[in-house]
Amino acid sequence: MRLEYDLEIRELAGDILPDGIGMDIGDGWRDIVIDELVPLSLFVGRHVVIRKVGEKWGLLDIRPDVKGLDEDRVHAVWHGLQRTRARSASICELCGRHGEIRRTGWHRVRCDRCEGEHLRRRHFVDANRRAIEDAALFYVGVCLEHRRLFPVANIVLQAWPDDIDRRHFIDAVNDAVSWWRAGSWIERIGDEQREAFRGLRFP
Ligand SMILES: [Zn+2]
Repeated sequence: MRLEYDLEIRELAGDILPDGIGMDIGDGWRDIVIDELVPLSLFVGRHVVIRKVGEKWGLLDIRPDVKGLDEDRVHAVWHGLQRTRARSASICELCGRHGEIRRTGWHRVRCDRCEGEHLRRRHFVDANRRAIEDAALFYVGVCLEHRRLFPVANIVLQAWPDDIDRRHFIDAVNDAVSWWRAGSWIERIGDEQREAFRGLRFP
């Protein structure tokens, strides 16, 4: 997920979504995650901490710890999560257009265009892991130096001969930066920088 959306969701969800919980989903599910987490934080925020925002069997999977709620409200929380999960079955995880569940290999919800690029994207990301990590590292360094965030695409200017590869590269760097911010590991960059990076915002 692109860093702008990741931070937007965190800002809207407030304390129920800790910085250390990474969101392992694509841009297309931004709206449904906001629709789920904002009411949760408003109505039962003190009682809920999100432990996972990801995907299971292709569908959006949000897992909370719930404490100190009566049975009816616990039931309402789970019911809301089930409804959101069902909504995700027809929304392309990557771009937000109409999608459907695809069951070849690992399950995923994709529109026809994103499904058409599925294998190409996977191979590209596998083949370019090192370049993706280098670009994420470079991006973090620029942001720390300027004490603000920039759109990843404005900083990472690798020239790929093809626009599709370029789009996949930018997506992968965004994922790497967002996951690193949440706590995953990138060689050559430490926890101290992560703490400083967590304090940065888009202007
Ligand atoms: Zn799509």
